[in-house]
Amino acid sequence: MHSFHYVGRQLHCEGCSLESLAAQFGTPLYVYSQSTLEDHFAKLDRAMAPLDHLICFAMKSNSNLAVLRTLAGLGSGFDTVSSGEIRRAIAAGADASKCVFAGVGKTRDEIAYALEAGIYCLNVESEAELKRISAVAVERGQIAPVAVRVNPNVDAKTHAKITTGTYENKFGIAFEEIEKIYARAAKLPNLRLRGLQMHIGSQLTSVEPFRKAVEKVVPLVDRLNRKHGFDFFSIGGGIGIVYKPALESGAAGWWETAEGRKVLTPQRFAETLVPLLKPLGLKILLEPGRYISGNAGVLVTRVEYLKKTGKKHFVIVDAAMNDLIRPAFYDSYHEIVPLTKKAGALVSSDVVGPICESGDYFAKDRPLPKVGEGDYLALLSAGAYGSVMGGNYNTRSLAAEVLVKGDNASIVRKRQAVEDIWRDESVATWQKS
Ligand SMILES: *Cc1c(COP(=O)(O)O)cnc(C)c1O
Repeated sequence: MHSFHYVGRQLHCEGCSLESLAAQFGTPLYVYSQSTLEDHFAKLDRAMAPLDHLICFAMKSNSNLAVLRTLAGLGSGFDTVSSGEIRRAIAAGADASKCVFAGVGKTRDEIAYALEAGIYCLNVESEAELKRISAVAVERGQIAPVAVRVNPNVDAKTHAKITTGTYENKFGIAFEEIEKIYARAAKLPNLRLRGLQMHIGSQLTSVEPFRKAVEKVVPLVDRLNRKHGFDFFSIGGGIGIVYKPALESGAAGWWETAEGRKVLTPQRFAETLVPLLKPLGLKILLEPGRYISGNAGVLVTRVEYLKKTGKKHFVIVDAAMNDLIRPAFYDSYHEIVPLTKKAGALVSSDVVGPICESGDYFAKDRPLPKVGEGDYLALLSAGAYGSVMGGNYNTRSLAAEVLVKGDNASIVRKRQAVEDIWRDESVATWQKS
């Protein structure tokens, strides 16, 4: 489910009207639903209950402290990709012993910090990295828990920029190399070979690639476990979501499209994978990002201008690609709806931001209700890979963020003051007068 729905003509997040939030906090504004975050986490957690398991929320999808605090409160661990993310998770109240640290480029300082923080495992992407972690662990007189990321060479059949599980990309170590790597790693000092990790891609809307990868990798995990005494196998993240959810009451949940077509539900995911994983007798880690945060957030924006050219009807809004880069970056679809429901015919519209780039658009030739200057729109499914990818291009402030719980709304990131954008800059020493 997700908690964005119309009450009368007004789009609400839980018990709060989004128009009143836009009026109170300004736009562009990210709004997150705490109940939706909790619901998504609980659904997956319940589905995986037959296994000893740990959900490590992939915080690169949304790392707002309030979002992390919500999930930490439910017992979630965190999948982190930098020492900054580990620090952020701890600042939000996360238990470091439930955090894993992934990524192909960990620096010595980051490795040292992760060991000092006492994280559950470092997920390793190359043999050079294993050697470096071993060396840092020796220097610190600590044992480093590690898992190697296997690339199962299974095509996730998703967008080229978010597929990771084939030999065409930089992630993991080839399936055929893994046993040799573990044999060599076992000879390196101060490493504990704690498990094996994989992640085949993002926004997977069918369970089949997961099934294929798990079927292929489970026998490998079993052999390695017998040799090295593992604690866990991580099957990564990547559960896809519906970007075109139905908003009418009584209609679909977050996993059902506006056309009523079902994609990957946690039940289906678990039904397929639990029987394959159970015989391992290991703790199973999951690293969902988008599944938990994606449909728990929207980006609210205000219509600034309408502009007609010979061919096009442009709706120019106050949000831009610096706030939400996914359409420009991945050609992503975000459903766009008015905060106040409109009657009347739909108009084929291009929704664009004010940035000086042709890539700064949210939709092209989209049938939308007729809107006017000052109307508000919501870009749905913006909770994952939205504000975290925000930037200051065109010296635009980072958007404000609000968390809603029932009738309560709280600012959880204040709108960046424009002077703060250049606060760490200065003129060169010889330019000072
Ligand atoms: C990005 C990433 C995830 C999360 O992916 P989602 O599609 O958001 O679930 C999980 N694990 C790893 C290693 C990742 O890089």
